[in-house]
Amino acid sequence: MKIVRSIREIKSELIRCRNKGRAVGFVPTMGYLHEGHLSLIRKARQDNDVVVVSIFVNPTQFGPDEDYGEYPRDLRRDARLCKKSGADYMFHPTVKSMYPKEYSTFISVEGLTKNLCGKFRPGYFRGVATVVAKLFNIVKPDVAYFGQKDAQQSIVIKRMTEDLDMGIRVEVMPTVREKDGLAMSSRNSYLSSDERKRAVTIYRALQLARDLIKLDDKDARGIIREMRKMLAPVATKIDYVSIVDPHTLKDVKTITGEVLVAVAVWIGATRLIDNILTRY
Ligand code: AMP
Repeated sequence: MKIVRSIREIKSELIRCRNKGRAVGFVPTMGYLHEGHLSLIRKARQDNDVVVVSIFVNPTQFGPDEDYGEYPRDLRRDARLCKKSGADYMFHPTVKSMYPKEYSTFISVEGLTKNLCGKFRPGYFRGVATVVAKLFNIVKPDVAYFGQKDAQQSIVIKRMTEDLDMGIRVEVMPTVREKDGLAMSSRNSYLSSDERKRAVTIYRALQLARDLIKLDDKDARGIIREMRKMLAPVATKIDYVSIVDPHTLKDVKTITGEVLVAVAVWIGATRLIDNILTRY
């Protein structure tokens, strides 16, 4: 596996691969890799001739009071895990090369970013769409792999690739969880042992929603109320508990088909998100 920092170098390496007709699979990440990321890398390995993993903590998707500075980083471990999972290239550009002084272009995906995390993290999806578009232009993959864990992100990226005719297939892979159900996240490393125990309630609340829907409960507002009751004792703050249409991400009142049940809560100073897709 090759570790590449320069944009020009990764471009020229990949041009050579594409000229030989080799399919390129791409996994964009912010590093501090865990099994969730590795499942995407392994899938990319299965499906493609060349696998590129990017590790880039993207400053433009963090708000001024968010955790850009503290975001966990461990490149040596990431490199080991990338290699073990089958990556050919670990692309780790510098912030300066991605955003030189004169940088001025941003991508805004409208509509889909109004609800859920878009409501609570202004500028977040603008930063995500921009960096993913840049990475797509550098890597020019055939397929890019994203996790269901960040459901809104993968829907926004799919929309962007279609709207801008990028010709890249976006594949969304299932959320990988710890044994007790907590969705794996680089940010779980922030949790104290007490917070880690409390965090499992997020998954329990999602399971409660799934169970109620299976028992013929169609009333989204009632289900959200029950989930909030369950989360209130463990969450420091609840950003949202929402039941939305999985395509439009608009709130659903009466559940009649497939829905995305999505949660964002603060456990101590850590903001965690999770979701499930379920149907009536
Ligand atoms: P991040 O490094 O958090 O930006 O995540 C990089 C990619 O890994 C995104 O597509 C995420 O959705 C995906 N991902 C993060 N956590 C998980 C997880 N627990 N299961 C599956 N995919 C994940």
